[in-house]
Amino acid sequence: MKDNKEILVCGAGGFIGSHLVERLKREGFWVRGVDLKFPEFGKSVADDFVIGDLRNQEFCQKIFNRKYSQVYQLAADMGGAGYIFTGENDADVMYNSALINLNILSGCKEAKVERVFYSSSACIYPLHNQVDSNNPLCSEESAYPASPDSEYGWEKLFSERLYLSFIRNHGLPVRVARLHNVFGPECNYNDGKEKAPAALCRKVAEAKDGGEIEIWGDGNQTRSFLFIDECLEGVTRLMESDFAGPVNIGSEEMISINDLARMIIEISGKKISIKNIPGPTGVRGRNSDNKLIYEKLGWQPDYALRKGIEKTYQWILAQVKQNSASAF
Ligand code: NAD
Repeated sequence: MKDNKEILVCGAGGFIGSHLVERLKREGFWVRGVDLKFPEFGKSVADDFVIGDLRNQEFCQKIFNRKYSQVYQLAADMGGAGYIFTGENDADVMYNSALINLNILSGCKEAKVERVFYSSSACIYPLHNQVDSNNPLCSEESAYPASPDSEYGWEKLFSERLYLSFIRNHGLPVRVARLHNVFGPECNYNDGKEKAPAALCRKVAEAKDGGEIEIWGDGNQTRSFLFIDECLEGVTRLMESDFAGPVNIGSEEMISINDLARMIIEISGKKISIKNIPGPTGVRGRNSDNKLIYEKLGWQPDYALRKGIEKTYQWILAQVKQNSASAF
């Protein structure tokens, strides 16, 4: 075991958390996962997996009964555009995630955890800097004056400030990353919380050759997408560094949603047309700005989007085939 170090991963039943647990286990750590649910697409490899609600202060206190060298806080009430931009889940998103963050921070402080990771988001960046799809501004200092376009973004901004205040006032060694659109195999793809790459892979996988898929908005909105392995590499490097952040962990390979769909269609080998329909889209343009991460960590993501999309499409295609086979 790696120096007998014990690690807590909050949100270990989710997409990033379950991949992180696998990575930490491969590196030789003892890992406890905690979540409302087990991972959906395979058994967790955590040494201990506790099912419980991190909004509950008593439960949260109990999981701090071990001496953790690191805590990764990934638990949040979140989802893709269909979940966070419709307005229907605003109260839950803010209330649930804020409670989780307050409870976990209090546990980390009492237990004197040696290092704490908090997953903030690119959604904290102001709307007014993301109105030009070709020229979005997402450098870290551009976060203020603040004006995120969703309550999800506002809660993340509040919580990253909360975590940073615990460095200043309680000496808690916190690291904060603003993650940009992470994707990969074993992500949500059909439960209403899926993000654009997974939703598009599913639509293409389900479509017949010669068919059509629907895309929300005019499809000219731009984003960048970060493959899960690169996300974990960035998070690990940040945790090992002396830099607290907040820092972007994202790809700078910006693409329009229509072009992303075309890429997936090409990978599928099918002939499929695109129909743009009204729907929640979020900001017009967003891209990671990696100057700061490169300056502080001497590293930045460079994995080609297409390689990650190929892996993700193959995984989602297999799920879609399995689902349709079990429907008979
Ligand atoms: P996810 O939804 O797959 O995982 C979050 C997990 O938190 C879920 O398994 C959920 O059950 C758990 N959770 C929610 N409420 C809980 C509660 N009350 N008690 C215990 N567990 C609870 O999301 P993800 O994609 O793995 O993202 C992980 C973190 O990274 C989140 O904080 C998210 O906001 C942040 N983030 C993700 C992305 C991305 O593109 N995936 C981008 C920016 C930021």
